[in-house]
Amino acid sequence: MGHPDLRAEGVAIVAGSVTDLAGVTRAKYVPASRLDAFARSGMGVSPSWSVFCVDSGIAFTPTIGVAGDLRIRIDPDDLRVVEHGVAWAPGSLNDQYGRPAPLCTRTLLARYERAAADRGLDVRMGGELECTMLSADGGPATTDAWSPYGIRTSLDRSAFLVDLATTAERAGLPVEQLHTEYGHDQLEISLAPDTPVAAADAVILARIVLSRAAARHGLRISFSPVPFEGAAGNGAHLHLSLSDGDGPLLSGGDGPRGLRAGGAAAIAGVLDTLPDLIGLYAGSAVSALRLKPGNWAGATACWGLENREAAVRFIAATPGNPHGANMELKLIDPSANPYLAAAGFLGSALRGIDRSLDLPEEIPENPAQSGVPTRPLPLAQRDALDAMETSAAAAELLTPDIVAALVAVRRYECTTFGDMPPAQICDALRLAWTC
Ligand code: GLU
Ligand code: MG
Repeated sequence: MGHPDLRAEGVAIVAGSVTDLAGVTRAKYVPASRLDAFARSGMGVSPSWSVFCVDSGIAFTPTIGVAGDLRIRIDPDDLRVVEHGVAWAPGSLNDQYGRPAPLCTRTLLARYERAAADRGLDVRMGGELECTMLSADGGPATTDAWSPYGIRTSLDRSAFLVDLATTAERAGLPVEQLHTEYGHDQLEISLAPDTPVAAADAVILARIVLSRAAARHGLRISFSPVPFEGAAGNGAHLHLSLSDGDGPLLSGGDGPRGLRAGGAAAIAGVLDTLPDLIGLYAGSAVSALRLKPGNWAGATACWGLENREAAVRFIAATPGNPHGANMELKLIDPSANPYLAAAGFLGSALRGIDRSLDLPEEIPENPAQSGVPTRPLPLAQRDALDAMETSAAAAELLTPDIVAALVAVRRYECTTFGDMPPAQICDALRLAWTC
């Protein structure tokens, strides 16, 4: 999509954002007349932008301190009008010479996109965003009973939903569907599949559009994995499909559920690194509260056709699924940086293909009742971080620099929130990931 005519659209300021390792999106702005500078030299930010924490703390590391400077750069072709007078584009982090910064997660994902292309693979990814509507003061938005997927609970919010759809269309955000979800005040939108970086950009754009449309209707939006203790969790599931010159890898073969050999190895690759990367996919101080059996959060290290309790839900190619066969990584929650989550997911799939990993047996029913043993996952935050810090696979997939900074940012959360009762942590982080 070419960039909008900023003058004709009444745009006064242009935002360029980066999402940090705590999953928080931060931005700098220029007056619209300075767009060229944002694209060419970029806007300065301190290296600490990569190790800011959920609550404004900074997790300095031996290599990231108070000295140095980086640049956020945007591509004017990525600009979208997100609010009256405001255009936004996703930024990449560069050094002052225009080279990618080692901690730029968008650049890492672009690298996997190229690595797939080098193997002759076309990749499509698509995000689902679950979130929770809050009142303006941050409490529950709806005081009467909730009806999951209810026509009442959605029509009660139709002015907001109409504004959301209109703003999304104007911003070129490809919303596929939206509904009120199972949890009280919970909402979901799903996005059309796209190339990996574009799909992760769309997740950030969707968070902005959702948060801002909600604000115009007296609501706030929580992207916390668990906004209230005991409430349904918010997932940030990602879908992934791969094709080569002979067609899709996840259908048309003679493996289980019609998988081709490469498709089976790709799923095996994703399952293989779950213990190493759960600290990335669901690594915040509240993430483990969501990862319980029965929550459909995919907290079990297995795969299965349309299995909502499996970490990897396999979706077959059927007439009811126009996008073709794909795998959905349900474990991911919205505290994860979507670029890094997508990089870990795609990188693991490619690693599985490169190593021709064997696909474990499918678990077609609720894993809690299947009796088939699965690999235990380090669900608790401290355990997930210990596993990631010592994992050769995590270092290989994410780079040692990113693993070190991610562990520092999340360990800060262990220290700050680890001794609080769960309800208090949920309260403290309810708006941490709101855009
Ligand atoms: N809310 C669930 C989660 O935390 C997902 C429910 C669903 O399958 O849509 O991931
Ligand atoms: Mg859902």
